[in-house]
Order: sequence, then structure tokens, then C-alpha cells
Amino acid sequence: MIIFGSRTSSKVVAMLIFVCATCHHEAAQRLVRRRTWFTLFFAPIFPFGHGSYTVSCAYCGTAYGVTRENADKFIADWDAQQVNAEADRILAAEDAKIQAEQRGTES
Ligand SMILES: [Zn+2]
Repeated sequence: MIIFGSRTSSKVVAMLIFVCATCHHEAAQRLVRRRTWFTLFFAPIFPFGHGSYTVSCAYCGTAYGVTRENADKFIADWDAQQVNAEADRILAAEDAKIQAEQRGTES
């Protein structure tokens, strides 16, 4: 007997902090992707389409649907922030190294 069916999964794919249109608080806004998968013996095999996206506010919990184009922009902004965060981390590490070297030459 072959058991097949479908399962819908939700996954947070990106997160940005901006002012919520509903509660007007600056809060984390999560982009959630919902996809329905074809399952065979309860294991997901392939997804149906590209799924749907919603943005939900961590402060008030309001969730609203967004188009795939807007979801892509959201993800691009998130990626850009990740790059900036990495650059900031490297700069901070280099700065700490220079500070340490300067302290070393003074003593
Ligand atoms: Zn909100």
C-alpha cells in the first residue's frame, strides 16, 4: 500500500526590524514562507508551487500576506544586512587588534 498526501510547513526565512504599519512600534518583522509539500509515506517529496509569504510583527502579532516580489525584496534587504553585520564584526576585530598592538608598544 502506498501512502501519499500533503503537508504544509512554515519557515521563517528572513527578519527585518522596521516600524509596523499596524501597531506603529519598531519591532522585528518576520517573513514566513508557507509551502505545501506532496508527501509519500509521510516524507515530503516536492513542493507545490512557490508557496505563500506572510510578514508577521513580533510586537503585535499582526500577519499579512505579501507578494513573492515583495518577499524577494525583503530577503534581499535581509541579506544586505547580514553582509553589513559581517563587515562590522570584521572591523571591530581589526580595531581590537590595533588597540592591543598600541597597548603592546606603550608598555
Ligand atoms: Zn505590530
